[in-house]
Amino acid sequence: MIGLDGIFKGENGGAAHEPGQPRILALANQKGGVGKTTTAINLGTALAAIGERVLIVDLDPQGNASTGLGIDRRNRNCSTYDVLIGEAKLREAIIPTAVPRMHIASSTMDLSGLELELGSARDRAFRLRNAIADLNTDATDENDYTYVLVDCPPSLNLITVNAMAASHAILVPLQCEFFALEGLSQLLQTVEQVRSTLNPTLTIHGIVLTMFDARNNLSNQVVADVRQFMGAKVYDTMIPRNVRISEAPSYGKPVLVYDLKCVGSEAYLKLATEVIQRERDLRAH
Ligand code: ADP
Ligand code: MG
Repeated sequence: MIGLDGIFKGENGGAAHEPGQPRILALANQKGGVGKTTTAINLGTALAAIGERVLIVDLDPQGNASTGLGIDRRNRNCSTYDVLIGEAKLREAIIPTAVPRMHIASSTMDLSGLELELGSARDRAFRLRNAIADLNTDATDENDYTYVLVDCPPSLNLITVNAMAASHAILVPLQCEFFALEGLSQLLQTVEQVRSTLNPTLTIHGIVLTMFDARNNLSNQVVADVRQFMGAKVYDTMIPRNVRISEAPSYGKPVLVYDLKCVGSEAYLKLATEVIQRERDLRAH
């Protein structure tokens, strides 16, 4: 794999964040299985449920967000890979989901070859930013987006750097387990590196604790540690470990559609209101 050296010196090929453009949030954590994709799908659904117009961008070659939203592989002729290598516009890769006001740009395994494909192209870290920049320009009121949620792969590679370079802020899902904090400092370092080179206004939107189990002492201890270490960056809302959340993707549905009344759905709705509240606070400052 090509190293990250040099990526941070890339040239910005396009404008950063124009007014009227969507808010762009990336779900990032280089650990796998911490709830990035689950949060992208269900936070996206909750935001759409309260009236936002949401685009999920699947940047994981595994394509779990696409599968979890019931997008058949045969319908992924045009994917985020085609967009990032410059062979398609982002709008061409967008497919509606069963959730009103929520669309997805799906991914395929091709994406795992992106790093090799882009080689040392000078704008290689800005492919996603440039693709999103012209997303709303030709949009009518009904088909523009207010939120773009980028689902990152479990790695701090060129794909994740593209997501960070394109985003206003990062949402970090942390699983309530013993090694939760391990790797967090490396993630924060990468965010810092992107901020000082590619994207000066990048912030950490917040840390969301996932798979919380109140009956488990370890889970409670992890919550205490993370809150002590990261303070107000941690959302009040915690996502409980909930079997309905893990069942939903096999039906190609967000948990909010699969079982609106379960505790997992409630938690994601609460998280969405907290995310929107933080957005308001950010704008007020
Ligand atoms: P990542 O995208 O970070 O790799 P996922 O969102 O795919 O992680 O989650 C990993 C696994 O854990 C999936 O099988 C998912 O269904 C399950 N999962 C995620 N969040 C929860 C939760 N709150 N309760 C139960 N299972 C969960
Ligand atoms: Mg994932």
